[in-house]
Amino acid sequence: MSRLGTPDNPLYVAVVGSGPSGFYAVDALIKAGVEFRVNMFERLPVPYGLVRSGVAPDHPKLKQAIKVYARLAEAEQFNYIGNVTVGADISVDELRATHHAVILTCGAETDRRLGIPGEDLPGSYTATEFVGWYNGHPDYRDREFDLSHETAVIIGQGNVAADVSRILAKTVDELKHTDIAGHALDVLAESKIRNIYVIGRRGPAQAKFTSKELKEFGVLADCDPVIDADELALNPASEAELENTGNKKIYDLFCGLAGQEPAGRRRCIFTFLKSPREIIGEGRVERLLIEKNTLSGEPFRQSARGSGETFTLDTGIVFRSIGYHGIPMSGVPFDESRGVFSNEQGRVIQDGAVEHGLYTAGWIKRGPTGIIGTNKADSVETVRLLMEDLDSLDTGENRNGVAGCYEILDRRNIRHINFADWKKIDAAEINRGEPAGKPREKYTYVNEMLALLDRA
Ligand code: NAP
Repeated sequence: MSRLGTPDNPLYVAVVGSGPSGFYAVDALIKAGVEFRVNMFERLPVPYGLVRSGVAPDHPKLKQAIKVYARLAEAEQFNYIGNVTVGADISVDELRATHHAVILTCGAETDRRLGIPGEDLPGSYTATEFVGWYNGHPDYRDREFDLSHETAVIIGQGNVAADVSRILAKTVDELKHTDIAGHALDVLAESKIRNIYVIGRRGPAQAKFTSKELKEFGVLADCDPVIDADELALNPASEAELENTGNKKIYDLFCGLAGQEPAGRRRCIFTFLKSPREIIGEGRVERLLIEKNTLSGEPFRQSARGSGETFTLDTGIVFRSIGYHGIPMSGVPFDESRGVFSNEQGRVIQDGAVEHGLYTAGWIKRGPTGIIGTNKADSVETVRLLMEDLDSLDTGENRNGVAGCYEILDRRNIRHINFADWKKIDAAEINRGEPAGKPREKYTYVNEMLALLDRA
């Protein structure tokens, strides 16, 4: 038998998830120079994961990555199997039986919890829900956000919190030529929100925004950033942190924004050293109980401690934006505390032993950190290990890749779509967006997407 990865004995790989890390894994496989076939599985009919449904609609440049992925999808080794949920429609074990290797790149699909009373009151939402809703993700299409109160609160000071607050802060004119979902734009157009609090549990030196994202708050059409200059005072450990990190840029931006006189209809108030202790209301969110914090610990290891001093803030809507968390998948060892598949550099492990032929990359491998490009090196590392394992992946058993998967899916009457189908949806979305001067108007229900394909 020829060596695995040669024309007579191609390597069959299943990639689960069609976001950046999935496509970067395909890219790395192409560059590895072996003969291979890849089946990429996606739960939705539409590909690209968080680039389609996470990246903010007013950040079109970040979505340019899609062009790279679309080019990779043209490779002859590539096959897209959309509308199929691995773990439900087909199991990981079935993928392992039909492929030499499986790379799990399904991202971090849920949110961390605050663990405070009132967290689930109506009016308290995760950032994921809101982001998915304004980006037209079918899972969140029918969520309702009541924007009739004057004050919204966002918990957390990372880039997702920046996205959520910026979308709340922008005018319809600032959003209407983006690919924001039409249903969301209609609701945002009626928004009564004037005060947007963005609350950090630690100080301005520890905020996790990147400077580009923070700068955007200085140029909004009808919203001004508000920062109390007194809140920018630093303890010695934070001063030491700023001497040694790029966060100095963020801190300087805060200083530049502080003390400005707000003139617009809306205000985005960045406030620090505060933690929510309870979300309060009769049947829905009415106010937030907040405790002031102090910082303690060595530079770069400072944590927030409650000071005992509390106050309440009236608000009608709270968004928890405190980071994502992966969810388990049947048949794959999961590290619950980190919210990732148990792995060593991308090789999935169970009780310290390598799970033969099972790999992972992206947020579900390392946790929800980094920008889109960070996933490239991550997927490269995983595929490098897969290549090191190549000889051991060839057990001599017949792997029938795509034919094997289709046989299983068809037997179960699972409708699966290919990349040509996606391209039809893509073209129809672009067409729908044209009259309103939008890059696209997304289909937001799976049955709409499938009905479109039936008509085509
Ligand atoms: P993140 O950057 O990890 O920020 C999470 C925020 O939540 C931090 O301020 C964190 O504070 C706070 N937090 C965590 N637990 C908390 C708690 N129990 N109570 C109060 N606050 C709490 O996460 P993210 O904003 O979800 O972003 C995820 C990744 O996606 C990041 O790498 C981000 O840069 C990236 N992203 C990039 C873009 C972009 O490039 N434009 C856009 C969106 C997302 P502590 O620091 O104290 O933990």
